[in-house]
Amino acid sequence: MKGRTVRNVNGSSSRTTSGGWSSKLSKMPSDCQVRGCTKPAKVGAHVVHASKSSSNKEYITAMCYTHNNHHNKSNMVLNKGAQLVRALK
Ligand SMILES: [Zn+2]
Repeated sequence: MKGRTVRNVNGSSSRTTSGGWSSKLSKMPSDCQVRGCTKPAKVGAHVVHASKSSSNKEYITAMCYTHNNHHNKSNMVLNKGAQLVRALK
Protein backbone atom coordinates (compact mmCIF):
# COMPACT_ATOMS: atom_id res chain seq x y z
CA MET A 1 0.00 0.00 0.00
CA LYS A 2 1.38 3.33 -1.02
CA GLY A 3 1.35 6.24 1.35
CA ARG A 4 -1.26 8.88 0.83
CA THR A 5 -0.21 12.01 -0.97
CA VAL A 6 -1.49 15.28 0.42
CA ARG A 7 -0.80 18.95 0.09
CA ASN A 8 -1.34 21.89 2.38
CA VAL A 9 -4.60 23.79 2.16
CA ASN A 10 -3.95 27.27 0.92
CA GLY A 11 -4.48 29.79 3.64
CA SER A 12 -4.79 27.27 6.41
CA SER A 13 -2.23 29.20 8.39
CA SER A 14 -4.93 31.75 9.19
CA ARG A 15 -7.11 29.15 10.84
CA THR A 16 -6.68 27.94 14.31
CA THR A 17 -5.96 24.30 14.77
CA SER A 18 -6.17 24.46 18.50
CA GLY A 19 -9.27 23.13 20.13
CA GLY A 20 -8.62 19.49 20.66
CA TRP A 21 -7.87 18.22 17.21
CA SER A 22 -5.18 16.01 18.67
CA SER A 23 -7.69 14.35 20.95
CA LYS A 24 -9.42 13.02 17.85
CA LEU A 25 -6.37 11.01 17.00
CA SER A 26 -6.46 7.69 18.71
CA LYS A 27 -2.78 8.11 19.36
CA MET A 28 -1.03 11.41 19.05
CA PRO A 29 2.02 10.80 16.92
CA SER A 30 5.26 12.15 18.26
CA ASP A 31 6.80 12.58 14.84
CA CYS A 32 5.78 14.46 11.73
CA GLN A 33 3.58 12.25 9.56
CA VAL A 34 5.37 13.09 6.32
CA ARG A 35 7.30 10.10 5.12
CA GLY A 36 10.99 10.38 5.79
CA CYS A 37 10.63 13.29 8.19
CA THR A 38 12.00 12.73 11.65
CA LYS A 39 11.14 16.11 13.12
CA PRO A 40 8.73 16.22 16.05
CA ALA A 41 5.06 16.81 15.27
CA LYS A 42 4.17 20.27 16.51
CA VAL A 43 0.96 21.29 14.82
CA GLY A 44 -2.18 20.01 13.19
CA ALA A 45 -1.79 20.69 9.51
CA HIS A 46 -4.82 21.18 7.28
CA VAL A 47 -4.34 19.08 4.17
CA VAL A 48 -6.29 17.76 1.20
CA HIS A 49 -5.64 14.67 -0.86
CA ALA A 50 -3.41 15.71 -3.72
CA SER A 51 -4.70 12.97 -5.98
CA LYS A 52 -8.33 13.99 -5.70
CA SER A 53 -8.42 17.46 -7.11
CA SER A 54 -12.21 17.38 -7.27
CA SER A 55 -12.46 16.72 -3.58
CA ASN A 56 -11.95 19.57 -1.19
CA LYS A 57 -12.40 17.58 1.95
CA GLU A 58 -9.94 18.84 4.48
CA TYR A 59 -8.12 16.70 6.94
CA ILE A 60 -5.81 17.39 9.81
CA THR A 61 -2.64 15.47 10.42
CA ALA A 62 0.33 16.00 12.69
CA MET A 63 3.26 17.77 11.10
CA CYS A 64 6.39 19.63 12.01
CA TYR A 65 6.69 23.37 11.49
CA THR A 66 8.70 22.86 8.32
CA HIS A 67 6.03 20.86 6.53
CA ASN A 68 3.03 22.79 7.83
CA ASN A 69 4.00 25.97 6.06
CA HIS A 70 1.80 27.82 3.61
CA HIS A 71 4.86 28.40 1.47
CA ASN A 72 5.13 24.66 1.10
CA LYS A 73 2.92 23.86 -1.88
CA SER A 74 4.55 20.57 -2.68
CA ASN A 75 2.78 17.26 -2.56
CA MET A 76 3.78 15.31 0.50
CA VAL A 77 3.65 11.56 0.90
CA LEU A 78 2.53 10.54 4.34
CA ASN A 79 3.82 7.67 6.37
CA LYS A 80 2.04 4.40 5.92
CA GLY A 81 -0.60 4.38 8.62
CA ALA A 82 -0.53 8.13 9.12
CA GLN A 83 -3.65 9.34 10.86
CA LEU A 84 -5.93 11.87 9.25
CA VAL A 85 -8.82 13.52 11.04
CA ARG A 86 -11.64 15.22 9.17
CA ALA A 87 -11.34 18.95 9.66
CA LEU A 88 -14.43 20.81 10.75
CA LYS A 89 -14.86 24.01 8.84
ZN1 LIG B 1 7.97 17.20 8.72
